[in-house]
Amino acid sequence: MAPERLYLFDTTLRDGAQTNGVDFTLGDKLTIAKMLDDLGIDYVEGGYPGANPTDTQLFAEDRNLRATFTAFGMTRRPGRSTSNDPGLAALLEANADAICFVAKSWDYHVRVALETTPEENLASIRDSVGAAVATGREVLLDCEHFFDGYKANPQFALACAKAGYDQGARWIVLCDTNGGALPHEVETVVGEVIKLIPGDHVGIHAHNDTEQAVANSLAAVRAGARQIQGTLNGLGERCGNANLVSIIPTLKLKPEFADRFEIGVSDAQLKSLAHASHTLDEMLNRAPNRHAPYVGESAFATKAGIHASAIMKDPATYEHVSPDRVGNRRKLLVSDQAGKSNVLAELERIGLKVDKDDARIMQLLDVVKEREAIGYAYEAADASFELLARRVLGKVPNYFDVEKFDVNIEQRDNAVGQRVTVSLAVVKVKVDGETLISAAEGIGPVNALDLALRKDLGKYQGYINGLELTDYRVRILNGGTEAVTRVLIESQDESGERWTTVGVSPNIIDASFQALMDSIVYKLVRAGAPV
Ligand SMILES: [Zn+2]
Repeated sequence: MAPERLYLFDTTLRDGAQTNGVDFTLGDKLTIAKMLDDLGIDYVEGGYPGANPTDTQLFAEDRNLRATFTAFGMTRRPGRSTSNDPGLAALLEANADAICFVAKSWDYHVRVALETTPEENLASIRDSVGAAVATGREVLLDCEHFFDGYKANPQFALACAKAGYDQGARWIVLCDTNGGALPHEVETVVGEVIKLIPGDHVGIHAHNDTEQAVANSLAAVRAGARQIQGTLNGLGERCGNANLVSIIPTLKLKPEFADRFEIGVSDAQLKSLAHASHTLDEMLNRAPNRHAPYVGESAFATKAGIHASAIMKDPATYEHVSPDRVGNRRKLLVSDQAGKSNVLAELERIGLKVDKDDARIMQLLDVVKEREAIGYAYEAADASFELLARRVLGKVPNYFDVEKFDVNIEQRDNAVGQRVTVSLAVVKVKVDGETLISAAEGIGPVNALDLALRKDLGKYQGYINGLELTDYRVRILNGGTEAVTRVLIESQDESGERWTTVGVSPNIIDASFQALMDSIVYKLVRAGAPV
């Protein structure tokens, strides 16, 4: 039996743009649209043309996408004709491949929010869909609050959906706008809808307010829906939308779906999924969720020694899918619970060739355990672990020495009488027998130290120009007067590679300095800088 086609509809640029703290520029939107297109998404919803300058300009751009670029807007307002509604006119005129209308399908909303009659709501759907179909564009109808509406008044909810379908809408999309529906309810209700509208014209748009948007989307597919709407990384207001980054690999890799359906995402495109997910986080200046299914840094990380030795024998023992299918990688955690097998596997991944009976492996494990006991966290700091391993195995060159550093914090009145705190760092470094002194001001002492340290490293400067500090986390361990500070620093280079380093000390500046040094040395090692 030939597999049935399932369509993916991404609304990161429309619903995802409603996320608290997210504000896409035109450039961001164009980049994300291209990324979704490259991933093999069928529909990219751009936004509301006519509603704000960014979206209006986005629709005016020459976008050159394979995906169906979709404009979103409202059906005609109650009591108006389609020809006398400026919002609708802007939508119909937009340079879009498809038009998606949102319409009420819950009688309570029609009465309270729209303050009109059920009949007028149905007429608005018929008129708007009809007018858009007449322009020759593909038309979608988002039935807002469909599941709540169905519970309150199934006849009316179904009549709204059917009105759009009868006027020629390609897709009738059932929206769980409040995100409160549960998978078994979604499956039942979608089952009722497809008695009236063929499933290959029905879509699902789920919000994540009970953390079941992905499950609800899959339940709708089981019941017959053939379009799934969602966003990258589950972006969206409140608790977000259905996460396409979780849905796509599930559809591609789980036999129940993979055997029955095909989607526009190829196996090769699937391998770029982790990268796409992390790229969006970078654009939003967020640290990627380590525990994100499939693509998170911890998604294929195994800690306990006994699991790690089984994974070495056969990865399928503790993995539900193979990480390379989605562009992720297996990670065996080196920690105080770890056995020798973790260390061996990690060394293999780094590319350090060591005989498994080499005595230095137990020595390395002892050092890791000792250091973790005083607060180091090598699970989180893969780059610091790599340096430690290379040092125990005798392979890290001494590129430069920091002879001394000095960090000064001063609070004073500035020229206009405001109280300001200024940090100044001075670093004295010896490279190749030459002493270099750099000074920098920063927004805080660690920032000043970082800037001064990276200002002049002599012949190594070229290797670290693209280095950037992307995340800085501080944790106080043990509490009280005995407290030590653990600093984790995430860095990134011009190629987009990220790594994390760690420092521990009773003094926060000292802990930060260790982590900064590890980050720079790691970069030099990776770049193969000459000694
Ligand atoms: Zn929504």
